[in-house]
Amino acid sequence: NTPLHELDPAVAAAVDAELRRQQSTLEMIASENFAPVAVMEAQGSVLTNKYAEGYPGRRYYGGCEHVDVVEQIAIDRVKELFGAEHANVQPHSGAQANAAAMFALLKPGDTIMGLNLAHGGHLTHGMKINFSGKLYDVVAYHVGDDGRVDMAEVERLAKENKPKLIVAGWSAYPRQLDFAAFRRIADEVGAYLMVDMAHFAGLVAAGLHPNPVPHAHVVTTTTHKTLGGPRGGVILSTAELAKKINSAVFPGQQGGPLEHVIAAKAVAFKVCASEDFKERQRRTLEGARILAERLVGDDVRAVGVDVLSGGTDVHLVLVDLRDSELDGQQAEDRLHEVGITVNRNAIPNDPRPPMVTSGLRIGTPALATRGFTAEDFAEVADVIAETLKPSYDVEALRARVTALAEKHPLYPGLK
Ligand code: PLP
Repeated sequence: NTPLHELDPAVAAAVDAELRRQQSTLEMIASENFAPVAVMEAQGSVLTNKYAEGYPGRRYYGGCEHVDVVEQIAIDRVKELFGAEHANVQPHSGAQANAAAMFALLKPGDTIMGLNLAHGGHLTHGMKINFSGKLYDVVAYHVGDDGRVDMAEVERLAKENKPKLIVAGWSAYPRQLDFAAFRRIADEVGAYLMVDMAHFAGLVAAGLHPNPVPHAHVVTTTTHKTLGGPRGGVILSTAELAKKINSAVFPGQQGGPLEHVIAAKAVAFKVCASEDFKERQRRTLEGARILAERLVGDDVRAVGVDVLSGGTDVHLVLVDLRDSELDGQQAEDRLHEVGITVNRNAIPNDPRPPMVTSGLRIGTPALATRGFTAEDFAEVADVIAETLKPSYDVEALRARVTALAEKHPLYPGLK
């Protein structure tokens, strides 16, 4: 029972340093969030010791009576949260949820359609060297000149290629998708519709974004982005597909479920159903809108900074640096220098290489969790705008970031 600091000072020191990094900087990576202490407590529990292959009530190991309770709570809560007929809470990650969902519905060589990676899609939506690109025949759709998914192209490609599965979802896209239109097209060509709501699931849970569940055959998500839970994945589906989905996850793709993570997912789903969570998602959206408005201001436009699609309906903003002297890498580095963490991101028709890019993806979920208000987001937006200008005062900007971080202490009880 030796504590971590004594048993392994090297790992403990890195964990401590990471806590201090999270506390002292502003986290604006759109896919990140801060899990509640209770979620981390569940994840750090003795449930990590248990093997539980199978599903509640039908396990291949003895001693599963308590993990059965936990897993059933997680299933019931997430079904209720999104109005789904079936839920599988075992996928270890979002990528594994997508792999299992595709494994359930497709055979190798089948055709799938997904949003092109550089246009905002995810690796698992058909990128060439991802499993999805290797196992399936991929037809990618794109966003148009207005920065929005080109539904006319989706329809044309679907009719030409007759995919077995259409994936609607994104990792870097600032607008809402038209799930009903996707379903109509899927029905016309006899395809399954899978919505990957990993990024916007928290907004859906709060009732601030259309719910894909009534439209899709299958909905996948991560639990650690806007949902604010532990790292992991979930698959929701119709009752009709329940058996196929379950056997694709186990034994199709995975062995023993991570019951400690499933316990943490259950806790997170309880939080997601609360009024506080809704209020937090409201501030998340408001923060992103404030950021988008600031980054189309005349002063930043004059130095080549713009916002893709002109604004946002979700928790993130995509900054367009095609006309800026700064590339995505340089902009990411500069923001890091003043204490703001973001990621560079390829944008549609990006003239710069993928390791450099001409875009930034900036998200507000983590700061909203920290308690940031509209006023705080306006200050953050101004700091970002000033940092992207040719002459910027690192010390002064860093001091403004520190003041915001200190105004909203993160994990004050943790050392
Ligand atoms: N789906 C989408 C839309 C994502 O953005 C991501 C992660 O960024 C994933 C799936 C994969 O999730 P994970 O990193 O947990 O495998």
